Amino acid sequence: MNADEFRKAAHAAVEEIIHYNETLPTVPVTAQIPPGYLSPHLPSTAPQHPQPWSTIQPDIATHIIPGLTHWQHPGFMSWFPATTSYPSLLGEMYSAAFTAPAFNWLCSPACTELETVVMDWVCRMLALPDVFLSGGEGGGVIQGSASEAIVTCMVAARERMVVKECKGLEGEEREKKVAEVKGRLVALGGDQVHSATPKGAMIAGTRYHAITTRREDGFRLTGKGLREALKEIEGKGLLPYYVTTTMGSTGICAVDVFEEIAEVKKEWPDVWIHVDAAYAGAALVCEEYQHHAKFFGEFDSFDMNMHKWLLVNFDASCLFVRKRQDLISAMSITPSYLLNPSHISGLVTDYRDWQIPLGRRFRALKIWFVLRSYGVSGLQKHIRHTVGLGELFAGLVRERSDLFRIVAGPAFALTVIQVLPKKGEKGNDGDEAWVQEVNRVTKEAYEAVNRGGEIFLTSGVVGGQLAIRVVSANANAEEKWVKKAFEILVKEAEKVVGTS
Ligand code: PLP
Repeated sequence: MNADEFRKAAHAAVEEIIHYNETLPTVPVTAQIPPGYLSPHLPSTAPQHPQPWSTIQPDIATHIIPGLTHWQHPGFMSWFPATTSYPSLLGEMYSAAFTAPAFNWLCSPACTELETVVMDWVCRMLALPDVFLSGGEGGGVIQGSASEAIVTCMVAARERMVVKECKGLEGEEREKKVAEVKGRLVALGGDQVHSATPKGAMIAGTRYHAITTRREDGFRLTGKGLREALKEIEGKGLLPYYVTTTMGSTGICAVDVFEEIAEVKKEWPDVWIHVDAAYAGAALVCEEYQHHAKFFGEFDSFDMNMHKWLLVNFDASCLFVRKRQDLISAMSITPSYLLNPSHISGLVTDYRDWQIPLGRRFRALKIWFVLRSYGVSGLQKHIRHTVGLGELFAGLVRERSDLFRIVAGPAFALTVIQVLPKKGEKGNDGDEAWVQEVNRVTKEAYEAVNRGGEIFLTSGVVGGQLAIRVVSANANAEEKWVKKAFEILVKEAEKVVGTS
């Protein structure tokens, strides 16, 4: 493809993308195709001879779009959103054009330096404590996902603990001690943490302990719960080294009790505390949520995904650490081919030392474009609008307390509900038979809603019971779609429960 052909193809692609976005509300939100739909439509080998764009492009509409779940559809209320925006797409376009896998500053100084600038912007925008700014000992680095941020911090925490425990030892004696210490390490998290945390422990090669949270505490990790778990682990001769705390748990958007956890951190200063704010951290752009960040300066790291709620397309996970040296000590390895004068000078940042892979994409561009195109005020508007839609939805649910109950929220645009059986039919609230019936009607209504294809929801388990999660946070979320979602839920729930 030469430049003229690219110009024509790119214009056609842009037109198609705009058309896709504008017509989204008219199509089902989920793919209406069976598994394995694609390969019968495509040849079994790559073409031997070049094909023009005019042959390639039509396959997007014919074969690819029918197999998409439309995350930008206003009826997409599943999981958490993966928002995007036009400025973000422009960032991707330039990034792809420059294709600079900027592992070292020298690879493309602009990639590194823009990342440092925008991460400081994000840090200030979210009112995170100054310890996370690049000017001191901390700093921010863009990771691919919240899971990657967790495992990166876990590895850094592991190495920090190993170094402390093996201080003063050398040679074989040290090697033996390292193996012994590693065998005793335990990572922890509340039982509401995302599976990325136990998975991180699997990858880091350490034990994992889930701390039971209580319904009375709103399933939040408390200082007491954490302290007891740490003591219990130490009582067994094991060594706690890392804890995930959560701002906005995946199931119900619970926020751990950071003030109390900060007190525990004072008693166990060597245990790394990470704040996983993958989704709800975006709300920190609004002053009314910034009190949550008050104690984050006591912790070791914080991560939020701009690619969930903040209009930057996947991937853009913003990890901030209090001491960048913790990452560098664990991740830095410099063979001769990576050695260069700028690295040796110590005057530059080489982000390869702050992450697991070597190469990295130029993701700062899309963040920069979004921050400038929307301004902080534009992002605040988006967050407040979608939070408001969550409140609207919860209000509608409350008006039908005969048919539904809210089990959590509305919080950060998430409302978690259950369908209720007819009163008196299956025992009383709390009885085992009643719980079974709640699970049954909730499951059946939920499945019927998703089969309909107009809106798309996910379910979860809260306190051992099935519940439906409704998230009104996507970039195209609208009042009329929230009302429509409620109407569909009522229709299906009434059918299942038998009131219509
Ligand atoms: N942490 C929380 C609280 C989440 O809700 C999620 C995903 O929804 C993750 C971590 C994992 O995010 P990622 O897909 O960026 O790894």
